[in-house]
Amino acid sequence: MKTQVFIVGGGVAGLTVALKLVKRGIDVIMVEKSPHLGHAYKGELIQPKTIQLFERAGIYESFSTAWTTFSTIETSELNAHLQPMLRSSMDYKQLPAPFQYAAMLPHSDIKRLLLKEVKRYDTFTLLQPATFEKMEENRAFIKQGKQKRTVAFEFIIGAEGVNSRVREQAGIERQRHVYEHDFLTVSFPAPDVVKHGHLIATKDRFLGLFPLPNGYVRTVYLIRKGEYKAWRKEPLQFFYDHYVSLFPALDGHVQTVKEWRAIQLMVPIRQHANHYVKDNIALIGDAAHSVHPMAGEGMNLAIQGADCLGELLIDLYEKRKGNEFLTHYESVHRKRVKAIMNLSHLGGLAYGKEGKAWQRSRTFALKQLLNNETLLAKYLFNISGLGFWPFSVKDSVTLVKRSKTTRVVNQMEQYQYGLDDDYPWRQQMR
Ligand SMILES: Cc1cc2nc3c(=O)[nH]c(=O)nc-3n(C[C@H](O)[C@H](O)[C@H](O)COP(=O)(O)OP(=O)(O)OC[C@H]3O[C@@H](n4cnc5c(N)ncnc54)[C@H](O)[C@@H]3O)c2cc1C
Repeated sequence: MKTQVFIVGGGVAGLTVALKLVKRGIDVIMVEKSPHLGHAYKGELIQPKTIQLFERAGIYESFSTAWTTFSTIETSELNAHLQPMLRSSMDYKQLPAPFQYAAMLPHSDIKRLLLKEVKRYDTFTLLQPATFEKMEENRAFIKQGKQKRTVAFEFIIGAEGVNSRVREQAGIERQRHVYEHDFLTVSFPAPDVVKHGHLIATKDRFLGLFPLPNGYVRTVYLIRKGEYKAWRKEPLQFFYDHYVSLFPALDGHVQTVKEWRAIQLMVPIRQHANHYVKDNIALIGDAAHSVHPMAGEGMNLAIQGADCLGELLIDLYEKRKGNEFLTHYESVHRKRVKAIMNLSHLGGLAYGKEGKAWQRSRTFALKQLLNNETLLAKYLFNISGLGFWPFSVKDSVTLVKRSKTTRVVNQMEQYQYGLDDDYPWRQQMR
């Protein structure tokens, strides 16, 4: 078999880049080792930049009829008696119009919708289940059932997640950090009060709640590293009690979770490949970068990187440019990833450490952040992915010394990524 672009992995990253390419008539073969779309929770929060990219790709309609949206995230810090020490909120409505909300859609639905779109094009071939094993001189070796197959390619994209074999075969090193905590995650029918995001923390506990379509709620609960086995030995009442004590409205709802098997363990890691590109090889999504899930960014970065690489490959084919132009993808996307990776890491540290003194410092910093319009706007704007508004030395001072500023929206627009920021190589290729 032979193809122009060979994609390893049919996750959100692989499917996004495949859709861009086949829409422009480029020949794509994708291998996916799993026989199905996967029912495990693997990210549902869709940030504003990703929503903008869905609109550019012409798939906004099919997604917007399936997802549920929210624009507020309420933050609570509870004391030892589980009484609020701080309750405040941040609002996506302060972002530049029209992307003033985030959306929630189960991961398998996101993949199902992308797959449905991509399958409409004749230049797309999906080999599933089939496993990529190795590559040699522009040929990929794959295993499909008992059969071994070879695919000759012009470009290969490693989109097969954190344990990328393409990355390994290309000899690209990665940096990896494992956190001192894990999360339990489960979804169940939501009480009426869960209409937006909630982050609830005590000196040693954290619960996050986000509304899902069809009246469900996604929950994530922080546990210490290694505690999972001990938790699973407890009756489910132990689990229910933790949830209900932090968010009493969950009583009568969390009990619909009937077995431990329904509760998934989520292990946060931060991992960054030293390069995203080598010759005619590119890495996207978790194969290139994986971030702490606190800010709900991994899937978004995967889609945003796939969009960038897809647009670049289209231009390389249409303008007959060589492999050396592939590095534009890394130049655009890597600095965005670094910025989001740092924010996600900070979120992980803020809630991951325990103790009264740590909670006091976190509560103070949160108060300063929530009381300072510019700082809060910068934080929200940056996690939205719509642009990057740099933090200044003055901002660090603000975190320890209260000051109020106004007129934030105009500056957001100044830092918002336009088409020339998303696809800057086009100016050189004109
Ligand atoms: C529990 C959990 C919760 C998360 N929550 C969020 C969230 O709320 N928001 C967010 O933005 N992100 C979240 N993330 C991160 C997000 O899921 C990932 O960043 C995103 O799915 C990465 O997509 P991907 O396509 O790069 O990789 P993957 O989704 O890992 O897809 C890779 C695909 O490649 C296939 N594959 C692997 N090896 C081979 C091979 N050798 N041959 C063929 N196929 C292969 C796999 O079967 C898989 O389908 C979460 C992740 C986890 C694990």
